Amino acid sequence: MSKNDRSPAATSLPGYDEVDVSVLVVGAGAAGARAAIELADQGVEDVLVLGKRSHGDAHTTWARGGINGALGTHDPEDSWAIHAADTLNEGHFLNDPAKVETVAKQMPDRLRELDEWGMDYSRTDDGEIDQRFFGAQSFRRTAFAGDHTGESLLNALVDRAQELSIPYREDVMITKLVSDDDAVYGAVGFDMDSGEFVLFNAGTVVLAAGGYAAVYNRHTSRDDENNGDGPALAYDAGASLMDMEFVQFHPTGMAVDESDPEWEPWSGRLVTEAVRGEGGRLYNTDGERFMERYSPDQMELDARDVVARAIAQEVAEGRGTDNGGVYLDISHRDAEFIQERLPRMYERFAELGVDMAEEPVEVAPTSHYGMGGVVVDDHGETDVDGLFAVGETMAGVHGANRLGGNSLAETVAFGTVAGDRIADRVDGPGSVPDDLVESVVEPQIAGLAETAGRDGIHDVDAVFAELQDLMWEHAGLLRDEESLSAGLDALARVREKAGDLDVGPITSRSFEYAVDVGFMLTTAETVLRGARERTESRGAHYRTDYPDVDEAWQQNITYERADLGGMRTDVSPVGSPDETVQAALDEGHELDYHQLE
Ligand SMILES: Cc1cc2nc3c(=O)[nH]c(=O)nc-3n(C[C@H](O)[C@H](O)[C@H](O)COP(=O)(O)OP(=O)(O)OC[C@H]3O[C@@H](n4cnc5c(N)ncnc54)[C@H](O)[C@@H]3O)c2cc1C
Repeated sequence: MSKNDRSPAATSLPGYDEVDVSVLVVGAGAAGARAAIELADQGVEDVLVLGKRSHGDAHTTWARGGINGALGTHDPEDSWAIHAADTLNEGHFLNDPAKVETVAKQMPDRLRELDEWGMDYSRTDDGEIDQRFFGAQSFRRTAFAGDHTGESLLNALVDRAQELSIPYREDVMITKLVSDDDAVYGAVGFDMDSGEFVLFNAGTVVLAAGGYAAVYNRHTSRDDENNGDGPALAYDAGASLMDMEFVQFHPTGMAVDESDPEWEPWSGRLVTEAVRGEGGRLYNTDGERFMERYSPDQMELDARDVVARAIAQEVAEGRGTDNGGVYLDISHRDAEFIQERLPRMYERFAELGVDMAEEPVEVAPTSHYGMGGVVVDDHGETDVDGLFAVGETMAGVHGANRLGGNSLAETVAFGTVAGDRIADRVDGPGSVPDDLVESVVEPQIAGLAETAGRDGIHDVDAVFAELQDLMWEHAGLLRDEESLSAGLDALARVREKAGDLDVGPITSRSFEYAVDVGFMLTTAETVLRGARERTESRGAHYRTDYPDVDEAWQQNITYERADLGGMRTDVSPVGSPDETVQAALDEGHELDYHQLE
């Protein structure tokens, strides 16, 4: 690292450190870690991975249920092609078939390799990697490590990265990529501990910075993560985004009294699907088991979007609780059964004074996963030369709805593919041309310095919350033209407030939030615009004024930066699956829901 000698001595621009590196990986969850491992395995030494938190502490650790790959442990008739077919079906054929094929083909090898690297999979009696049923998958294809799959996966990757001596820098937040819209040259950020500004000179940048599900007020993500940093950074650098309007709402998040400090932190947190899998029933405040009206055959075990919409409808029609939810009741099972099958859930509610064996819990849909992200080619590269996006930051694999267990799969599959491509093209450390230092780097650092300690009118937390509230209100589960337009107007008012924030010093939480508000404004606008433009209902996107699928809309909406801060949307056609996948689709495999564990 060196102190820069480029800033003109006479200006008031604060100093900044410079770091030269061939490949900068922004994000150290499963996707970033796997990309870095591939690079190191292929002999690329000059790689730096960084994240906003410490090593091994990424959102990935919260994934619980499992990771997909057609190993066929129990069901030898499963294949990568059926995995791909299930993914396309659940994505309502808006997925990019080539990317789906890449993930499905890669995964058996990726799962075995993780085994070699020490992932502590749950196993069958004869020591094979165990696999279970997961919603909408034709066979038992989801590998898991108890109910801590993500943590175990990331531990294995971090151990492997450390074995390969891959450098990691913690507590660094990237605020802007250095790009001229055609190519990327590095990134600007700050050290969240020391408060120093840093310019990373890097010829290749891999964005593995997670998703955007937390632009909603009720969400399952960790606090302060998934605010859309990855997509917003790429968009600002000149890349396109796609499918942003598709947000998966998990049907059962905790619905709590947010004025109660003991319950408030639990708002939106996931109540595992397993509660319904083990027989949990949903009731409205009239005591009706309302799924009988929405899905008489599959009832509470229907697809996530169907159950989530049913709950939202009940609440909208006045049959919800004061906390905006409905009741999930498993009290017909005895305490021993619940403690054995759902230990963490039982414990969590018991600590809050609710005995699941005696009474129902309150649940409501919660924002869980953004299917959209950055447009990339088959190797994870964006249309900005040298800029890659992988994992939850990228678009294309999930289409209109994500198959559970496929996002962890996407992280390691595309981490590998992108790492492999970068290894072929990497060409020594990058360097930011002087004109971009002047036009991009210095204004960015001056802007950050000006924001730090700013004595503005608006409280950062309040603006952050206002944005999340408006997304819930206007771009939640049940959408229509009028409300989406009102949402865009409300977003413009939030944008104005965001220009005059009251912010602490650079190392404060409020400074991080102030930067995040900027990322959230971009991602929120794409969701609202795309949802308004898509005049149909498909997968996770439901328009009450256009309740049916419109075949003419089998297209992806893309979003690009336009002049003067504007946003341009466009549509692009979806590709066709290859013959093998088409044959699997024609065979019509599907899950017998009664087999769900
Ligand atoms: C409760 C929950 C349960 C889930 N369960 C499953 C499951 O069972 N199976 C499944 O397949 N999927 C599951 N998912 C989804 C899955 O966990 C994620 O899609 C996946 O872990 C994303 O990994 P990632 O590497 O792309 O990003 P992340 O793990 O989110 O990592 C992002 C990284 O980027 C860094 N970062 C972000 N912004 C910046 C910035 N501005 N500057 C610097 N660094 C930055 C972060 O610090 C972090 O290191 C679940 C999600 C949730 C919320």
